[in-house]
Order: sequence, then C-alpha cells, then structure tokens
Amino acid sequence: MPKAKERRIIVAKSSGFCWGVRRAFDKVLEFANNHPEHGPVYTYGPLIHNPQAVEMLKEKGISVLEEIPPELKGTIVIRTHGLPPNERKRIESSGATICDATCPDVGVIQGTVRGHLRKGYFIIIIGHREHPEVMALLGFAEKRGACVNSADEVKALSSNLGKVCVVSQSTQQRDKFDNLVRLIRERYPECLVFDTICPSTGTRQHEVSELAGKVDAMVVVGGRNSSNTNRLAEISKESGTPTFFIETDEELNIEDFADAETIGITAGASTPSWVIDRVVARLRAQD
Ligand code: SF4
Repeated sequence: MPKAKERRIIVAKSSGFCWGVRRAFDKVLEFANNHPEHGPVYTYGPLIHNPQAVEMLKEKGISVLEEIPPELKGTIVIRTHGLPPNERKRIESSGATICDATCPDVGVIQGTVRGHLRKGYFIIIIGHREHPEVMALLGFAEKRGACVNSADEVKALSSNLGKVCVVSQSTQQRDKFDNLVRLIRERYPECLVFDTICPSTGTRQHEVSELAGKVDAMVVVGGRNSSNTNRLAEISKESGTPTFFIETDEELNIEDFADAETIGITAGASTPSWVIDRVVARLRAQD
C-alpha cells in the first residue's frame, strides 16, 4: 500500500444523509422520546434503506411493521417515500396515530401528480415500479398512471393517453431521465414534463461523477437495497474507475486498494455518518 502521505482519501461533500432523511430520523426520534402516550412507535417498512440505521432505531424501541393490522395501538411512521392514499386510510382505520415523515420534496411530486390528474392528465412516472416512492405516486395517479424505466416500456405505452404529464422518481439518474423524456416527447409531443429529481440527488450524482474522474478507486457506501446508492455506484462504474459498493467497512478488501494513491468515497442519502466514518478509518488504518 502507498504510504500515508502519498495516498489521499477524498470524501464527497454530499455523502450521507440527505436533508429529507435527516428530517425523518429527527422527527421519529423526537416523537418516540416525547410522546410515550402514543407508543409504541413503528415504521411502516424500514425507515430508510440502510440495515445499520434500522438496527439503531430498533435499539431505541422503534420497530418495523411489514403489514398494517386491522387494529393497532401506537404510532405508525410514514417514511420519506410517502404512502399511497388507500394505505394511509388503512392506517387511519386501524386506530393508530400517524407520524408523517414524507420528504417534502416527495410531497411536491405527489402534489404535481394529484393536481394534474384532476386536470385530466395521464401520469407517466420515470422510475422503478417496485420502489415505495413510485408505488405511492402510482397510488396518487389512481388508475391513470404508468411507470416506465426503459425505452421498451415507453414504446409499450398506449398511443391514446390523451393529455400526458411526466414526473420522475426523486432519486432517478439524470442521464436516464433525460433519455426517457426525449423518447416520451417523440410519442407525446404535447406532454408536460416536470423534472422532479430532488436537488440533493442531482448534487450527489454530479459530485460522484466528478470525483470518480479524479481518483484511482471509488468506494460507494450504502444499503444494497438503496435505490439512490445503487445509482451512485452505476455512475461511478460508468466513469471506468474501479468501484467498490459496500454496506459497511467490514466488506472492504484492503488488497483491492494496493495500487490506489487516491481513493474517493461517497455514500447514499440513507447512509449514516458513523458508517462512512468507519470506512474512512479502515482505509486510513492501512496507511
Ligand atoms: S433523496 Fe431527496 S427526495 Fe429522497 S428523502 Fe432525500 S431529499 Fe427527500
């Protein structure tokens, strides 16, 4: 391995919790600490796509609920991704209190979908169909929405959709969004397009692309089930720089960095700072 003074480790400024995730975390912890009368507190699905953070919440008594029961005493937290309106109603009918931690940036997309649905538009969402944020947006679009994530899926859309409104999953990859919008515009020239990639995601993707071009190796830290972290790894790989996607420092294989004089580190919006710090410490410890 190069000596300490020869090797540089550069951590992307935008790595780690985005403001929406930090807000959700703070909100849930504040609620659990200050409203014991509404306990116990559950998140509906993991609060964020990061196993280490979910474990930390569990230690504080906040557990994950996979299904909404018919009756529940306690509080259910709605995650940053939001929830389809029908599922929100099910929580209300269960008797549980709701703590809504939907990210305001996602709330803007939901509002755009709802508003344009009312004006008679068909909604096209560019994103991953199985992602909770997209599932919620499809719920807001009622039966007048579709999700696309490839050129083939754009081609498969009916040509008779009437007025079309296009939005994006907040963590969509910029290039992919631009390409699919171009194809959608060819099919529906009058469509309205809303670039709803959230500013935090845009900055993070831009930064990883720049950083990957300057270093010998990149480490991308985050949950394997985190959509935005997967995209960061894809962007870094596309630059041609060797890229290592890990969840924790324990997965680092130090031999992989034997020839690297400069190592870049970035992390998804749901990666806690303590997980990133351990990765940096482990790489430094090998100097
Ligand atoms: S990635 Fe963007 S939309 Fe998603 S929680 Fe963070 S700030 Fe909100």
